[in-house]
Amino acid sequence: MEIKKYKMYGVKWDKKTRGIKLITSGDGDISPLIRPVFHEELDLLGFNRYWKYPKSKEPLLWSVGRYYFYDGVKVARVKGGGFYENPQLEVFEDNLELEPVDIEKMIRKNREIMENVVHTTLDFISEIYSEYINRVDKVVVAFSGGKDSAVLLDLVQRVLAPDEYIVMFNDTTMELSPTYKFVEIIKQRYPNLNFYTARYKKPAIEMWREVGIPSRVHRWCCTIYKTVPTIKTIQKLVNKETPRVLLYDGIRADESPSRAKLSQISRGKHLQQINVHPIIDWNSAIVYLYTFMRDLPLNELYRYGTVRVGCAVCPFGSNWKEAILWLKFNEEIKPYLNLIEKYAKFRCRGEGLEDFIREGAWKKRIGGANLGVSDKITILEENNQTKIIIHHPNIKNWFEWFKAVGDVTVINPSGYVVFDKAYYGFSFYSDSRELKIVFDSALPKDLIYYLKNAAYKVAYCIKCGTCEVECPNSAIEIRTDKIKIDEEKCTKCHKCLSFVDRGCIVADSFRISLVVDKMSKNTSLSRYKFGIRKEWLEEFFSDPEKWWVENSLGPVQFEAMKLWLIDAEI
Ligand code: SF4
Ligand code: SF4
Repeated sequence: MEIKKYKMYGVKWDKKTRGIKLITSGDGDISPLIRPVFHEELDLLGFNRYWKYPKSKEPLLWSVGRYYFYDGVKVARVKGGGFYENPQLEVFEDNLELEPVDIEKMIRKNREIMENVVHTTLDFISEIYSEYINRVDKVVVAFSGGKDSAVLLDLVQRVLAPDEYIVMFNDTTMELSPTYKFVEIIKQRYPNLNFYTARYKKPAIEMWREVGIPSRVHRWCCTIYKTVPTIKTIQKLVNKETPRVLLYDGIRADESPSRAKLSQISRGKHLQQINVHPIIDWNSAIVYLYTFMRDLPLNELYRYGTVRVGCAVCPFGSNWKEAILWLKFNEEIKPYLNLIEKYAKFRCRGEGLEDFIREGAWKKRIGGANLGVSDKITILEENNQTKIIIHHPNIKNWFEWFKAVGDVTVINPSGYVVFDKAYYGFSFYSDSRELKIVFDSALPKDLIYYLKNAAYKVAYCIKCGTCEVECPNSAIEIRTDKIKIDEEKCTKCHKCLSFVDRGCIVADSFRISLVVDKMSKNTSLSRYKFGIRKEWLEEFFSDPEKWWVENSLGPVQFEAMKLWLIDAEI
């Protein structure tokens, strides 16, 4: 069943209510990405120096992007802003006396279109439920603390009985205080619903220290703080390793290009999960109109001007949200900013630290070169020998991870691994500083790849739990004191060795070359003496590890290229 594309509904100004009116064609006066503006936002930004307005519950203005509209007229815009910088106001209309939007009248004027939208969505929710209920173990409604998930929850509870589903709040431990407050308000509003919270075992700030600040490339926080606890909570609730779940969420196409590609039903990556997105095609105007129609509570963050809620500090956060947080929630973001500053000090060598952070350069972190860590692994391939040296091994567990590569037999101080029906012998040696595993015969490329990644796991694993949920056969058990691979269940599918570069989120976050590590400490070298050429990059990226020992560059070109790689954090 497909529902109508409501994002095609346009939005017009309605002067009589100082509000908005939906129209059934796409060409309105203003973008449907519109949001209401409340007195809290105006106070925070300093508009009270220019305008008079009441401290009303109702909105006073509307905003699209950085522009503010009153009664359909553009009256101001906000420029700049972000961490360390207050936004600047540009007021086009001075001395305004703002009156609140007439919500009641605005709702009346939009009722016909809204009822059509809402009833079609309610039908969709209940039809999907009837279609899947006999094929799943649990029906879950995801609740994030944002306006979209509050709308979704309200819709679901109108058509499904409280015992037909559970509500799951994923507490990343990085939520801002208004979100925690809002969750409690929602629980009180729907006292008959079954709420559960999925939360990782330790606060995210500790993991920021252990795994390195997240970035757009290293989104370990989404995996560890969203995927892992949600899956584990559902597994526990259903008492099954691979539960079948029907999950309703409040994802909307407006929010991002990747979400825009989703249809109303999609398959989850983990569990046997069917994701249903009933409001995927609702635009922001429809969401707010529904919120007003149903008099739903609103997370306070929206009243201060944020467009989206979510984690306090996020590499995908906008400058706008950062500006609001900087002004209003400074204390709450401070612990994260302190760690970003620490990284930035390494990265920009003392200069322009605040600009570096405000402009979001920290969000582009690729490797661990500026996190003050050194590589724990050396891999040497020479004379048909592969040597894996783990510098800080967790001796007790080292061959456990290698069981995911193939069948491993260890007869101290040697052993063999069976891979693709062939036997590969190795010897090993360990002391308190390192573990050295030496394969004496030539190994197939894919075996080397999996062995390397198993070694990365041995060296870097902090038992974050991701591998447990990545394994399609529930063969991995991670406890505080040990890791166990159940050889009866393990099919050697190698997913746990290949779901992320280096087979481990932490190793990937700290990715660093030993040569780069040494070079980055050498500040006396002159910067690039040659322009970096495309063919050098192609040669490097065709096999980065081999490049360090074998490449076509002359010595000076090699130095220049190394410096470039350092600056690019590769
Ligand atoms: S090996 Fe797996 S469980 Fe261990 S830290 Fe890495 S990703 Fe997490
Ligand atoms: S992901 Fe595959 S290789 Fe890894 S433990 Fe599970 S079954 Fe074995």
